[in-house]
Amino acid sequence: MQIPLKTLRAIVGAPHVLTGDDVSSRREDWMTGAPCQAGAIVRPADTEQLSAVMHACHESRQPIVTHGGLTGLVHGAEACPDELVISLERMTAIEEIDRVGGTLTVQAGAPLQRVQEAAREVGLQFPLDLGARGSCTIGGNIATNAGGVRVIRYGMMRQQVLGLEAVMADGRVVSSMNRMLKNNAGFDLKQLFIGSEGTLGIVTRAVLRLQPPTPFEQTAMVACPSFDALTGLLSQMGKALGGSLGAFEVMWQNHYHLLTETLGRHAPPIAPEHPFYVIIESLGSDAERNATQFREALESALESGLIVDAVLAQSSTQRDGLWAIREDIEGLVKGLAPVLTFDVSLPIAEMQRYTDALEAQLTKRWPDARLVVFGHLGDGNLHISVSAGSAELPVRREVEAMVYQPLAALGGSVSAEHGIGLEKRPWLSTCRSSAEIELMQTLKHALDPHRLLNRGKILS
Ligand code: FAD
Repeated sequence: MQIPLKTLRAIVGAPHVLTGDDVSSRREDWMTGAPCQAGAIVRPADTEQLSAVMHACHESRQPIVTHGGLTGLVHGAEACPDELVISLERMTAIEEIDRVGGTLTVQAGAPLQRVQEAAREVGLQFPLDLGARGSCTIGGNIATNAGGVRVIRYGMMRQQVLGLEAVMADGRVVSSMNRMLKNNAGFDLKQLFIGSEGTLGIVTRAVLRLQPPTPFEQTAMVACPSFDALTGLLSQMGKALGGSLGAFEVMWQNHYHLLTETLGRHAPPIAPEHPFYVIIESLGSDAERNATQFREALESALESGLIVDAVLAQSSTQRDGLWAIREDIEGLVKGLAPVLTFDVSLPIAEMQRYTDALEAQLTKRWPDARLVVFGHLGDGNLHISVSAGSAELPVRREVEAMVYQPLAALGGSVSAEHGIGLEKRPWLSTCRSSAEIELMQTLKHALDPHRLLNRGKILS
């Protein structure tokens, strides 16, 4: 490491500079559980300390990796022995809730679930939601521009952030803590940091936009007989439920079958013989109207043959049971180990052709290969898991080529919501033009000229 530990200790206090076993006993990757290899971990208490740490690192040309909740899925938080990790685990305060303006001001290390709970306590909601809610942090959600299961209704993290504060590579603090919906005074600087995966600065605080509550949820799992029926259902539900469609999460049969029949981790609410399963959720503020509208929409879909079976959750326990199948990423990873996972986007109409062609290519190359697909269909986002007997680099590269290369012709993306990190860097040019990558390099050079922040992530 370039920076002397005593410099860091003088800024944050000795107990907050971790070395040796205190570093290696932490994992740095959710998927592999690999131990953290950083030279040290520093845990600032606030923006001021973080700024001082960054300034000192800049002076000594010390490379930095930022850690939030470590649930990222593209190796964005990996650190080498010569890198210093800055962890935001002490910066978790919810500073203010403005009920009139509908905003929540928070430090970036706060877990997503705590923010959701705090909003609920004052009769509002923070709508971003994803399976890692208990561990992932607001800073990580901003850095990766997280999506999740409510994007179809509320958009991605970018749409939930009104303002933010970030510390730049040289330690300067850019406070852009806007609280208004409208502010067109010059460049919208917060957008630089949202989705840039910690490569342009460290997010320290944010003003989040809260939404009116939708306390009455209707949740159903339905089975669709074909892909055409599935897309027809999406369109019909969008029309029938209007603005209240909150989630439309699709599991291909291979996903549903694996978690219910093969692994037996969940009792199947619907027989596992249909091509597609969908969790549909309607979020409303009027219990009776929401229930009637939802039931009628499902009945109409049954009558028109878009769905062939349906289970309507009658309690929150039943609702959780339906979601548990979709959110059982741990089961998926164990059931397919060694597994390779992908998060892509492409036009909805192309999805079945794409997954069929991928499966054919995989099984031609490895006859026992398995493909499992689920995703946020309405967002054009598929999560693809492949078991090809090995997760070693040569196999990974071959499978990546099969998954990513067809996306270019379809106008798709190698990353729908997880980011690029280290994992997808070789494939960035599949979905970004050279002019776009050049502009990204220009921004990186302007904001981090010594390339100290999250080295090698997104850009080489
Ligand atoms: P980390 O993993 O700690 O970091 C992720 C990246 O952000 C790293 O590059 C890191 O350096 C950087 N970073 C972290 N904090 C900051 C900061 N304050 N300032 C600057 N850079 C920072 N993602 C979705 O979009 N949708 C989903 O539905 C979804 N579901 C998931 C389900 C599970 C079970 C898991 C494990 C992950 C899921 N994810 C999903 C991945 C998602 O990216 C993360 O869960 C989350 O957004 C990352 O937050 P984190 O605090 O864990 O970040």
